[in-house]
Order: sequence, then C-alpha cells, then structure tokens
Amino acid sequence: MIILRNIKVPYDKDEKFLRGKIEKELNKKDFDYKIYKKSLDARREINYVYQVLVDLDLKDIDKKVVKRLKNNIDEFQEEKLEVKNINDIKTAVVVGSGPAGLFAAYLLSKEGVKVTLIERGKAVDERVKDIDALHENGRLDENSNVQFGEGGAGTFSDGKLTSRSKDKRVSHIFDIFVENGAPEDILYEQKPHIGTDILRDVIKNMRREIESHGAIYKFNEKLLDFDIEDKKINKIITDKGEYVADAYILALGNSARDTFSMLDKYNLLEQKPFAVGFRIEHKRKDIEKAQYGMISDKLPAATYQLNVTDKNEAHSVYTFCMCPGGYVVN
Ligand SMILES: Cc1cc2nc3c(=O)[nH]c(=O)nc-3n(C[C@H](O)[C@H](O)[C@H](O)COP(=O)(O)OP(=O)(O)OC[C@H]3O[C@@H](n4cnc5c(N)ncnc54)[C@H](O)[C@@H]3O)c2cc1C
Repeated sequence: MIILRNIKVPYDKDEKFLRGKIEKELNKKDFDYKIYKKSLDARREINYVYQVLVDLDLKDIDKKVVKRLKNNIDEFQEEKLEVKNINDIKTAVVVGSGPAGLFAAYLLSKEGVKVTLIERGKAVDERVKDIDALHENGRLDENSNVQFGEGGAGTFSDGKLTSRSKDKRVSHIFDIFVENGAPEDILYEQKPHIGTDILRDVIKNMRREIESHGAIYKFNEKLLDFDIEDKKINKIITDKGEYVADAYILALGNSARDTFSMLDKYNLLEQKPFAVGFRIEHKRKDIEKAQYGMISDKLPAATYQLNVTDKNEAHSVYTFCMCPGGYVVN
C-alpha cells in the first residue's frame, strides 16, 4: 500500500477527476484507492487537497515517477491500537457512560476485562424522551437530561471531531466510530463531524459491542460514596449496591456537582486552570465572502480559526468550536 500526498482537485470537480489525477501522477491505470485525508485550500485558487492510499507497492511504480513525486509518495504502514499495562486487571468498574467511560469500557472489554458500567442516567432512547419532555413542559429529570444519561454530554454534543491533537490514537477513535455506524468521511475530512442524530445510534451500537464482550450496563444507578483508605478505593457504593473491582475508572464529566462534593470530601480533586468562553454569531455569507472571496453552493460553509497569545505566553485567546452554516438554538 502506498500513500500519495498533495493531489489538488479544483473544488467544482468530482471524484472521477481525482481518479484521473492519481492515474496521471502514478502513470498507472489498474489499482484501487481510498481517500486518506481531504482538506480545502482557499488561499489562491480554491482546491481540495487529497492524500490517498493506493493499493500498489512502491516497487510497482516507475522509479522516475517516484523521483518526481519525492516526499509526496511513500510506503504506508498501518498502526494498530495497543492497550497497554492492563496486566493483572481482570475486573473494572467504569462510572459514567460519556465518551471517556464509553471508550474505556469498549477497549477494556475487548481486551477481556470484565467491565461493569454504572450510569446515573437512562439509556439513550428513554433519555431523548426526557429531554423532549423538558422542552415541552419544562420538567427536568435531574438524572436524565442533556448532560446525564447514556453517552453523557457527548450524545447531544453535535459530534464535531476536530481534536487539534496530533496523537496517533485519534484515528483509532474515528475507526471505532465508523465501525459503529458513523459516516466514513470522518476518516478523511479536515473538519470531521458526526451530528447528534447519528451519534445516538453509534452509542447504542457501541453498547451492543461492549455487552457482547461480557460487560454489564447498569443504568439509573448513581455512585454515592467509596470505601477508601490512603486514597486507595476498596469498593464503591451506589444507590443500589456495592462493587469491588481490580480497577475503577471515574469518568464523571464536568456536571456532576453532587459527586464532586463527595470526591472533595476525600481530597481527591485537583484544581485545574479553566477557560472562559462566549459565543459569536456571524452571517454565513460574510464568512464565505471573507474566506472564499465568493459564495458557491459547490463549497461547504466556510470556517475560520484565530489564536492570539500575549508576549509572555501567559494567556491566550482563541476560537474554540465553530458550527459553520449552523443555526442558533437557544
Ligand atoms: C452543548 C454541547 C456541545 C458540545 N459540542 C461538542 C462537539 O461538537 N465536539 C466535542 O468533541 N465536544 C463537544 N462538547 C463537549 C463534550 O460533550 C464533552 O467534552 C464530553 O461529553 C466529555 O466526556 P466525558 O465522558 O468526560 O463526560 P460526560 O460526557 O459529561 O459524561 C459523564 C457521564 O457520567 C455520568 N455520571 C456523573 N456522575 C455520576 C454518578 N455519580 N454516578 C453515575 N454516573 C454519573 C453522567 O450521567 C454522564 O453520562 C459539547 C458539550 C456540550 C454540552
């Protein structure tokens, strides 16, 4: 398998054009390929810039072609995600089924660890009904809402997946999402996005996969306290029972004030710096004119990103999360 980089395709051309370009670059006709990365470059002409994986070996490509393509062609090595240091852990209790708890349970249960996942809220379908009820009649269920319940705050987070992290494990997270029903384009789009409607099914599929490895989900059950000695947890206590395991993962998110008060009692919390944010609303056409110099229905809603750091690098202001072309939900 080879990776071919920096293939430019004008924004208004289709994927047939891309295939033609790859054939021309490699001077070859018979091969399969898939898109590895796709980004939009609007600095001068507006082009999509692709990286593609081609089902050929470097030795099959003419040496003159390899020389001409220089750094834009390489043998491609796929990396496997390794879960390390689980050694003697046979059982684990994960508290919280948001993205953190969900992926912990997913990976551990696949490695053969017997996982119990405790979640104060309800399963996603019931949770959606509770949120609809809140919108309709203002009735809040304190354990089943936009923050609490299967999938955590993540379920209603819109699923924008721009992490800004260069960590190689990011791509494995995307693979797991796709294996569980997310659209394949998240694997290569510059600003990958799942969308709340699809996320719900992805989360249910992940639950089925986790359960198929012997894990047990406990919904409507809340962590209340610990039996703890020298910061070592001996057991955890919920409103329905007690659990002992080789490892405990508290993936509580940032909204469980009651649980944080309990953790504070045992001196288990650390202070972290925090950022304060606000929302800016722009008209879509203004951003598109600024970024593309024009408006075209062949182009996606434009985005931008700004970063300013003071000269001592002590503070910074930065744009965080953009919903291009979205509409405002109060
Ligand atoms: C409106 C909104 C939009 C967002 N948009 C994006 C986005 O587009 N992209 C993105 O990457 N991020 C987004 N985020 C942020 C993202 O949702 C969070 O970073 C993510 O959910 C954090 O994951 P987590 O697993 O740490 O915690 P959470 O998702 O908060 O999950 C914690 C879970 O723990 C459970 N829990 C808490 N206390 C207890 C207890 N005592 N017992 C049992 N269970 C308990 C809760 O019920 C909850 O289900 C958004 C967040 C919000 C609110």
